[in-house]
Amino acid sequence: MVTGAPVKTKYEAIIGLETHCQLSTATKIFCNCSTEFGTEPNHNVCPVCMGMPGVLPVLNETVLEYAVKAGTALNCKISDYSKFDRKQYFYPDLPKNYQVSQYDLPIAEHGWLEIELIDERGNPVRKRIGITRLHMEEDAGKLVHGGSERLSGSTFSLVDYNRTGVPLAEIVSEPDIRSGQEAAEYAQELRRIMRYLGVCDGNMQEGSLRCDVNISVRPVGQEKFGTKIEIKNMNSFNAIGRAIDYEIERQIGVLKSGGTLHQETRLWEEGAQRTVSMRLKEGASDYRYFPEPDLTPIEIPDEQLAQWKAELPELPAQKRHRYESELGLSAYDTRILTDDRAVAEYFEATLAAGGSAKQAANWIMGDITGYLNSEKLEIGAIALTPQALAELIGLIEANTISSKMAKDLLPELLTQGGSPKALVEAKGLTQISDTGALEAIIDELLVAHPTELEQYRGGKTKLQGFFVGQLMKKTGGRADPKLANQLLVKKLQGE
Ligand SMILES: [Zn+2]
Repeated sequence: MVTGAPVKTKYEAIIGLETHCQLSTATKIFCNCSTEFGTEPNHNVCPVCMGMPGVLPVLNETVLEYAVKAGTALNCKISDYSKFDRKQYFYPDLPKNYQVSQYDLPIAEHGWLEIELIDERGNPVRKRIGITRLHMEEDAGKLVHGGSERLSGSTFSLVDYNRTGVPLAEIVSEPDIRSGQEAAEYAQELRRIMRYLGVCDGNMQEGSLRCDVNISVRPVGQEKFGTKIEIKNMNSFNAIGRAIDYEIERQIGVLKSGGTLHQETRLWEEGAQRTVSMRLKEGASDYRYFPEPDLTPIEIPDEQLAQWKAELPELPAQKRHRYESELGLSAYDTRILTDDRAVAEYFEATLAAGGSAKQAANWIMGDITGYLNSEKLEIGAIALTPQALAELIGLIEANTISSKMAKDLLPELLTQGGSPKALVEAKGLTQISDTGALEAIIDELLVAHPTELEQYRGGKTKLQGFFVGQLMKKTGGRADPKLANQLLVKKLQGE
């Protein structure tokens, strides 16, 4: 190697995510306590989830079902033989002083999910992110800190055990992610899959989906990983992306200035848009795992496994591929339509009822989504059925009503429901697209406004707008706009 010449080192980031998904079962993982969020502190508790001596946990079968479905959807191998282990650590919100988790034999391993980013030209760029493992475990409780040393002279901490024993699936990715954008998309895709399966509501504000990021940087070409730093406390996809991009810059900056990175956990400060050190890590923690003696190992009968697999819905990535290849929709439209399973199913039901794909997509992504957002509603709450939307699209395509008229009818259809055809008839709204009828109306208009006609023919052509206005007024907005304009111009020019 030539010495003395300055070498410009390029760095790359190596990123992996650990995601905790709260499984949306009605009861906890090892007891019958409710998992309802937001109830009074220490209301949903019993001797089992409070970790009293002598109690026996029993695995909630729905937790196993949800974990297997999630693992299958993430293309994992479902283990023939799996077990629970005790992970020892002391924390005030963990009454047993250990957490029941899975260590060396998780329920699912070796999977992947596909993320899709859209490049500047609008084309999808797809990448597989490996899934190392998915395992089941119980959540810990929650500490609530109160008081103030400065104001009252005392501080206190309260503990709420409502969350202890709430079932979690922890999903660990391979370090395949290279940027904040890829990480945010990975987390979003994971959430989509969980929501499609109905196994986790993905509510980040309530903590139903929590992501921890491991990130290191290394010079491109170097095989050895750099110092791994963990970031916590990101409660939106946006924050995940920005925290990672910030951290990549920070770590490269430290290395370039000759500094050293330490293994540590950092917190994302949303307000200041930066990460700050929370605690240094000294080597790997020793949790002294050992097999949970009170729970039997898990072996799932083949028929049961086959049944759960058969119950999986078409997943978001499959839908995206199908909408693009079969329906010819753009990558952008496809992403929006498949983001939420209920919206995708509404769209598909509209097509099944005869609506054209492009029109149905435009209505759903445009006016209908606008209405849902402004009213804070889910698509299932609107009175307009997919069949009625298909009928409305049919009326436009048959030239019975204009798009403008359809838009005017929409608010009533969204809130009252019913048949667009019947509504059009009841309101006498049929579009006038008969050439003879329109010509007769235009003739009348020209006779009624001789001055304007003379001025138009004298060169003041912008008076066309005046005549269009009169025509729409006279027809109550029912004139087929395209045809009416053509005919009007012809007549105005005296043809
Ligand atoms: Zn309980």
